[in-house]
Amino acid sequence: MCVARVLTALPPLQALGSLCSPWAAPRVGPLPPAPAMVRISKPKTFQAYLDDCHRRYSCAHCRAHLANHDDLISKSFQGSQGRAYLFNSVVNVGCGPAEERVLLTGLHAVADIHCENCKTTLGWKYEQAFESSQKYKEGKYIIELNHMIKDNGWD
Ligand SMILES: [Zn+2]
Repeated sequence: MCVARVLTALPPLQALGSLCSPWAAPRVGPLPPAPAMVRISKPKTFQAYLDDCHRRYSCAHCRAHLANHDDLISKSFQGSQGRAYLFNSVVNVGCGPAEERVLLTGLHAVADIHCENCKTTLGWKYEQAFESSQKYKEGKYIIELNHMIKDNGWD
């Protein structure tokens, strides 16, 4: 004869969401265009400041803000001096002249980018990709890991 086992109530699932701070909230649906930076007119250390609520990357040499973690597209890039990250957009960054360069993934038109505050070359911008599989990189920025520090809100 079967005895129906009465299962004791399982412990409630951890509410994982509550462990995340607000910046980690997943983006659901289209967001209203939030101002990503505040421009200041007076000359100060940096030209642009990123939102204080976000994890961000800053110049390792002068701490100028460079990019929001939200704008990180990929961590699997190779720079000339090691690993590099691909970003959607950056701030406080100046651009050199574009030139054609053969990279690991083929021929691209790229322009070196530098920190506008301390003038250190940080990486490059993809101006144009010539292979369709690489087109997603156009207009995006590479910053080498050894020129960035994680700033604000990281564990
Ligand atoms: Zn700098």
